[in-house]
Amino acid sequence: ERKAALAASSGPGATSDGHKVPLLANVGGPGDVAAAVEAGAEGVGLFRTEFLFLDDSKSAPSEEKQVEAYRKVLEAFPEGRVVVRVLDAGADKPLDFLTPADEPNPALGVRGLRTLLDHPDVLRTQLTALAKAAEGLPVYLEVMAPMVADRIDAKAFADACREAGLRAKFGAMVEIPSAALRARSILQEVEFLSLGTNDLAQYTFAADRQVGAVSRLQDPWQPALLDLVAVSAEAAKAEGKSCGVCGEAASDPLLACVLTGLGVTSLSMGAASLPYVRSTLSQHTLAQCERAAAAARAADTAEDARAAAQAVLSGE
Ligand code: PEP
Ligand code: MG
Repeated sequence: ERKAALAASSGPGATSDGHKVPLLANVGGPGDVAAAVEAGAEGVGLFRTEFLFLDDSKSAPSEEKQVEAYRKVLEAFPEGRVVVRVLDAGADKPLDFLTPADEPNPALGVRGLRTLLDHPDVLRTQLTALAKAAEGLPVYLEVMAPMVADRIDAKAFADACREAGLRAKFGAMVEIPSAALRARSILQEVEFLSLGTNDLAQYTFAADRQVGAVSRLQDPWQPALLDLVAVSAEAAKAEGKSCGVCGEAASDPLLACVLTGLGVTSLSMGAASLPYVRSTLSQHTLAQCERAAAAARAADTAEDARAAAQAVLSGE
């Protein structure tokens, strides 16, 4: 089955009637790049930069070390897109020297962009390293911040990017319901959105992503999560900007069709999922994806949403 999907699947991501949906890879460092290229990724939709910071528990990696690692990833996609996420420390990704040790609820505390705004030197070094890594390369660099809550966060990040002399598009991840609900306001400050559906589910359902007992609420088919995806995609469309998905939701081929139907403009996932998503997407028209999305949103449970989308897409 895997071979058949791979064979049937090559080229850029698109629906059967030619609506383009760039299929991008999630990478955690230069070591993941070869698999992404082999799977035919059109670029990187989420470069998680945390890996660089895990070696040393006392300080951030030097600018030189960062430039080297970023350059390796950027070079792998000449003329492609590479979306780099700045450091997302805290909560499920704690770092000794940055993450407060005494928070009662780390997922609701100082993490993601909040950490970086408290440590502007760390953010500045990372942005400067990215600017240097991209120098002279034709790559289309985009840089985004995790855990943006509102327009003030988005502006603080965009200002930091400008101050570092970064020539790239600046974006915000939508991982907090407030960011989805006020996406148009955030888009006054940044040029694109990327939905981090893992955290967006966590914060929408008040269900810790690390606690198995509440995993039912982490299901990306939950209609409330689909509603927030729709709101974000509609806001981006109204502003003439893009809105991708880089959370786990994008790696489910059926859900990828639904996300497309909701108006999402690109999908980023682990390389292993790419051929399946490409193949499934290529078997349905945009109108079918839109109908599947409407059917899923009309459901009351994740299970029913999935079944409703499946019924539409299989022509039942
Ligand atoms: C997400 O939250 O969906 C996401 C893509 O980021 P991470 O899983 O690294 O928190
Ligand atoms: Mg996240």
